[in-house]
Amino acid sequence: MPDRIPSQRLCQLRDDELVCAGTNEKALAAELLQLRSLVVDFTDSGDCWLDHHGGCQAHGYLEPERGERCPHAVAKELIAEWDEADGGGR
Ligand SMILES: [Zn+2]
Repeated sequence: MPDRIPSQRLCQLRDDELVCAGTNEKALAAELLQLRSLVVDFTDSGDCWLDHHGGCQAHGYLEPERGERCPHAVAKELIAEWDEADGGGR
């Protein structure tokens, strides 16, 4: 198993401020690539179907907290940004 960086070493909330500690950049990059691939695999390509409460019926995200969005919608935006940064479409 590759080296994994404990979450608390990545960033911690201290006195309402996000403090990111020094990390092994190579391990972090490798883990980020793996997580990006998983996000792509786990994200449903279908459109969200929002109900009048702001929940997404299509993905079962029915009771969002104030300001929250369906994670599939957020993930699709991230994937599009990654694709653009990579210089093309998926
Ligand atoms: Zn959705």
